[in-house]
Amino acid sequence: MSADSDLTLVNCAVLDVRTGELDHGRSVRVEGGRIREIGDSNAPGHGDRIDVDGRVVMPGLIDAHVHVMASTLKLSSLAHQSSTLLTAKAAPILRDMLMRGFTSVRDAGGADWGLAEAVRTGLFQGPRLFISGKGIAQTGGQGDFRDIEEVALPDYCSHSLGSMTRVADGADAVRAGVREELRRGAHQIKLFAGGGIAGGVPLAYSHFTVEELKAACDEAASAGTYVMAHAYAADSILRAVEAGARTIEHGNLITDVVAEKISGRAYLVPTLSALDGRVRHADELGISPDVRELMVHVVGEGLKAIETCARAGVPVGFGTDLEGIIHPYQMSEFSLRAAVQTPLELVQSATLVNAEILQMEGKLGIVTEDAFADLLILDGNPCDDIAILQDPARLRGIMKDGTLVRRDF
Ligand SMILES: [Zn+2]
Repeated sequence: MSADSDLTLVNCAVLDVRTGELDHGRSVRVEGGRIREIGDSNAPGHGDRIDVDGRVVMPGLIDAHVHVMASTLKLSSLAHQSSTLLTAKAAPILRDMLMRGFTSVRDAGGADWGLAEAVRTGLFQGPRLFISGKGIAQTGGQGDFRDIEEVALPDYCSHSLGSMTRVADGADAVRAGVREELRRGAHQIKLFAGGGIAGGVPLAYSHFTVEELKAACDEAASAGTYVMAHAYAADSILRAVEAGARTIEHGNLITDVVAEKISGRAYLVPTLSALDGRVRHADELGISPDVRELMVHVVGEGLKAIETCARAGVPVGFGTDLEGIIHPYQMSEFSLRAAVQTPLELVQSATLVNAEILQMEGKLGIVTEDAFADLLILDGNPCDDIAILQDPARLRGIMKDGTLVRRDF
């Protein structure tokens, strides 16, 4: 997994994700984990020459909302589990994401610096990790995963690796929590700005005072980063963005008015497969018929939210938010969204837009000189037919950091 390979992919049809067009007969020279040169296939290459037989070469995918530590859907149990066992359980979750073609992921709570380092140094195989550390939640809000009977102090969770969140109340405590996550290597800050479905707090609830929201966003901005805010309801979305949040996670119940107001200030990261996956396993998960119905409804609203944001000019990224037994549904996010988006728009969400969200424009999500050599080799152009991306038989090669981690051609 070291990034010292020197090789040239030849006979490539390089996909320009800005246009969906292919550039045939190209070579891509990779050195030190970066794309050094894109040239003519007949030009003399460096190192190993690997013929991809005219296949499509596109940038690796990015998922902007994952929880690699969430090996169970019973989130309240995570804080009480063995740290070593949870880390071991994260390993196959990470590897499976990479093998689906996700070469970068933004973790929305749970993964810590150590896990990112384990991936970076090749101890674990997985996508490069952009971590949030623990998401910041208010007492009794979404993200305060204590069971109702639990009497543990709210800050107990900040000491457990398995806990995906920490609880903070009051602007000073929120500020301290953000600073602590940044100190421990968070790339961005996750904040629970409103209710949800999985956590049992009603969707319409808004969380934190404006002062608390601002404290978090200001601290993140001072450290050169930003807040990703969990919010479903239109009011929660608007409060979070007005306080400075840069990405809205989920956002299913956004309205035209709120979309207009946040346009130019925030991104939407929809995560439809998280609810859709729960619906598929409703019986097994003991989900009651009315909650199941609500989930189906909110997925439908989430599709409308994508259209609403597109109309208002709010860029739409790509996320999934999967946990436990529904981790395997990561690619189903594409088929769900295909109801309202073209294949090109879907590919752009998971590459260009997500690279912007990660503040990695030109480095990730595009095949260009100096970008990270995170590449997929495919039979066919997913900008013509998104199903190509979802078919493991047509995903013939995966390169991360200049190393071919899968080669099937
Ligand atoms: Zn999440």
